[in-house]
Parts: sequence; structure tokens; C-alpha cells
Amino acid sequence: MLDGSEVDAGSLADSRLPLALSAGAHELTVHAEMAYSRDGQGLHRAVDPADGETYLYGHLFLDAAPRVFACFDQPDLKAPFQISVRANPEWAVISNGVIEATKADRVDFAVTKPLATYFVTVCAGPYVSVTGEHRGVPLGVHARASLAAALKTHAPDILDVTRGALDYFEDLFGFDYPFGSYDQVFVPEFNAGAMENPGCVTFRDGLLYRGVATSEDIMGRSLTVAHELAHMWCGDLVTMKWWEDLWLNESFAEYLGHAALAHISDSAAPWVHGSISRKTWGYAAERAPSAHPVAASAADTEAALANFDGISYAKGRLSCASWWRPLATRLSQLA
Ligand SMILES: [Zn+2]
Repeated sequence: MLDGSEVDAGSLADSRLPLALSAGAHELTVHAEMAYSRDGQGLHRAVDPADGETYLYGHLFLDAAPRVFACFDQPDLKAPFQISVRANPEWAVISNGVIEATKADRVDFAVTKPLATYFVTVCAGPYVSVTGEHRGVPLGVHARASLAAALKTHAPDILDVTRGALDYFEDLFGFDYPFGSYDQVFVPEFNAGAMENPGCVTFRDGLLYRGVATSEDIMGRSLTVAHELAHMWCGDLVTMKWWEDLWLNESFAEYLGHAALAHISDSAAPWVHGSISRKTWGYAAERAPSAHPVAASAADTEAALANFDGISYAKGRLSCASWWRPLATRLSQLA
């Protein structure tokens, strides 16, 4: 309903609903039932082949939010979200905000800070959890039930890195972690490495190693954990105006993830790891026909995704040494 009049739902195409609007205030109400996805974009539904259990998680990067809920979908149009979920009462339900109330099969989350649409997520299923706390911030690490043993093995290390990186970033930026609780959910069939949803980061669950993990494996995961936490300040609290500046999010998080881990471990090993495994990713992207400037233009979301590669992360990170400190100062002034 737009200002009390029915909108033709048949005009929905490519997840876009055209609205004829005059200047000024309007009221739009949407009731919609949307399908789960199976390609990792949107509200993904996975069935664990180990035990047949069902797991859901939202992955809305880069422009999949309209596959889940009605929104004006661009990164500089932020709004507070109030999310309620009806699910199996036996399931864990995790989202960006903290849980405010639970009643039978319904979980109500607190209103979030203003979020870009691509940061909204809900994870639901019989996830198992290891919880902790750090100076008033509730921490959670979650995985599907069939990975309970791997979760138990690796969660203490993940929580240690999280605590150390929280201290480092809070000190660096001069203000506290801004999103209440911090959950890290290792989800099945994830099509990226990790996603920085404020307060509810998702990771591919292959990072909970079931066999012997090398020190390089653990280092790589720790860098991802610190990288995602850096995004809580740069990317989430302060977000680019348009997708062409996505590289700035990633280069900054790359640089500060390495800096945080070097600080926590009192070692140069994270920088060495970055030079061996990440820098070569940037070099490979530069040799490809798809090479592009670190800061390229993005006329639309497809162009932004086409330019989202090792250049955005690893080459951009190399340029950060000169400008990250002024940017960090500016961020702390804006927040
Ligand atoms: Zn990132």
C-alpha cells in the first residue's frame, strides 16, 4: 500500500518495485512472503547432510536484501531495524541486535543502530554455541550441531583473538565497540570467506578445521576474525556512500586486521603471512585481463562486483600504510 492505495505487485521485476512518487513524505507498507535461496545470496536454507538438520542465514551482500525484505537498497540509505523471528523454539536465533524478548516460538530483537540494508542478517537453526564476555560485550561463537567438536576445539582461540582485537580497536578509535553483542556464526554452504554484519558476523564453516590445522591455517583465520571486527568501525558504523568505495572498506580492514594481530601476538608473523598469501592474491589479480585501478568507478552493482578482487583487498592494503592513521582519526570524530 502506498499512501493508502494498492500498488500493483505484478510490476515487481528483478526484485525491484517501481513507485510513482511526488516530492515529500509518503507511507509505504509491504506485506510479502519471499522464498529461501539456495545460492548463498538472500536468506539461504541449508540442510546438513551429516544429520538432516536445517540451517538458515541471511547473506545480503551486495544487493540481495530485496530478495528478503522491502527496502530502498543502497549503502548510504541506512535505517534502524526491528526484527522479530518466528522459528522452531528449539532453535538458536541470532541477528544483528541483542535479544529483547523470547516467547514460545517468537524471538524479538532490540532495535538496531542505523544499518545499511546489506548488513542485515538472521541466522536460525539448531546451531550450537560457545559463549563468553569481554568488558561488558557478550560474545558468541556458533556452528551447526555436527561441528560441535570442532567448535569446542577452536572457539577458545577465536574468542582470544576477538578479545585482543576488541581492545586494540577500542583503543585505536577512542570509543567502544558500538553494536551491543558480538556473535560469530560459522555457517554452511557460505559463498564468501566472511561477512561483516554488525554484531552478527558470518564465516564459512570450513574455518572450523576438523582435521589437523597448520599454524598458517590458524593465522589465516585469526586475520579474518580481526579483519571482520575492524569492519565494525570502518564499513559498518561508517559506510561508503556508493559501491565504488568498497575497496576502502576492505583495504582498511585488511590493514587493521594485520595490525591488530601483530599487536596481539607481539610478532611480525601476520605481516609475513600477509606478504606471502595475500599480496600474491593482489599480484594475480593485476596480471588478469580484469585488472583495474584500486579506486575504480562503479556505475552499478554488477560493475562494483566485477572489480571486487585481490586488488580491492591486498593491493589496497599496501597503500594503507600512508593514510590509515588520518582516516582512523577522522572516523573517531564522525562516530
Ligand atoms: Zn572485509
